[in-house]
Amino acid sequence: MLKLFKTRSLRFWVALGMILAVAPLTFSAIFGYVVLNRGVIAAFHDVSERQRTELGPLQDLRILVWDTLVPIDEHINEGGSQRPLLYRELRGRIETGFAQVRAQFSNDPQALIHLDNATESWATADTHATELTAETVAADDPEAERKARLFHGHIAAVSDRLGQAYAVIAGAVQADYDNAVGWSESATIIFAVSLGLSLLAMIGGVALVGLIMSRSVDRLVDGAARFASGDRHHRIDISVPPELSRVAQEFNRMIARIEASETALADLARVDELPQLHNRRAFDEALARAHASYLRGSGSATLVTLDIDHFKQINDTHGHAAGDAVLRAFANTVRKSLRTSDQLYRIGGEEFAIILSQTEPEMAIDLANRIREAVAAQPIAYRDQDIAITISLGLASLADGANPAEIVEAADAALYRAKSCGRNRVVYGSAS
Ligand code: GH3
Ligand code: MG
Ligand code: MG
Repeated sequence: MLKLFKTRSLRFWVALGMILAVAPLTFSAIFGYVVLNRGVIAAFHDVSERQRTELGPLQDLRILVWDTLVPIDEHINEGGSQRPLLYRELRGRIETGFAQVRAQFSNDPQALIHLDNATESWATADTHATELTAETVAADDPEAERKARLFHGHIAAVSDRLGQAYAVIAGAVQADYDNAVGWSESATIIFAVSLGLSLLAMIGGVALVGLIMSRSVDRLVDGAARFASGDRHHRIDISVPPELSRVAQEFNRMIARIEASETALADLARVDELPQLHNRRAFDEALARAHASYLRGSGSATLVTLDIDHFKQINDTHGHAAGDAVLRAFANTVRKSLRTSDQLYRIGGEEFAIILSQTEPEMAIDLANRIREAVAAQPIAYRDQDIAITISLGLASLADGANPAEIVEAADAALYRAKSCGRNRVVYGSAS
């Protein structure tokens, strides 16, 4: 599982972060739209539709029914041909109203029962009204007044029954309205919750990608900074995402290559052009190390400086190339007399040095003499000539100076005395 995530690319992580951030918002927007549209808006729409198509016409019908009292009463009191016409016009509208309302109530049996009763009462009322308007009525005709009272009663009954139907429908509309309010309240809660979840997911998504990216990038930057400040041993460890992991690998390889090149360059800087000889820099470093370990009590060492006698004459007599050959042959001869742990350093043109570790001056003097004799005993064959050389050697113990420079000075002073005392000899310290 972990490996599956580690191999995922940068694009995957960015896409995942974006999906985590955007998907819940999109989901809550769609969900919100559905809840709002299907639930809240549709429910309120239903309520207002029933008010418009059911309650409104029912109320209108009740008013129309009451309106019929006016032409009938006026006809009885005042007569004339206009009131019956007006009544018949109202009756036409009332009958259309009943038909319309019935069509709307087809789904509500309770309301239909009240409507049937109202229709029945209206039919009876209309029978009385038709009889009254069919003839000319004399003023104060008791029979006409009786019929008019009956008509009034039936109209009141129609209105009552329409009122009962109204109450049934109004109850259903109220239930619809309560339902719509319920939807609206749930929608508010759902909105708040999904918005909260979306925000959490967004923060989570951004944080996840940020964490993965920033951790990897921080390690890269930290690695580069440590490398820039000279730490060549640091390696950058990044596993996610693979792109940055590859950058880190390449960076590590580059650091390793630079480290190897630097080591090679440093080695080169310590090696003299004469094969396998260390130079002045290497000598200074080695002497400093030997002195430090002497100060720590790890035993003494003796410094030997060597200088070829009258070397200038060799150059002058046999040429510079012969001088070079002599230097190489001399170096080989000296090396053969040394332990592998002791190095021969070329510290000047024809000046050399050896640091004899763990060696007391007496032993060092013996060794120096053996070297001196070996060199003197082995003339150097150059072209068809043998070039004989001698060397002078100056010795100083590490105890002879407070620091490496003073020790070198002491050995140089001894060498100088070896020269001034006739050359081809070994001088230790102040002894001559
Ligand atoms: P001394 O016995 O007092 O040491 O006399 P010297 O002639 O050996 O010393 P001096 O310091 O007068 O001369 C050293 C010479 O070594 C001078 C320089 O031309 C020569 N030399 C220095 N380096 C090289 C080199 O790499 N090759 C050659 N062929 N000659 C060199
Ligand atoms: Mg010399
Ligand atoms: Mg010299």
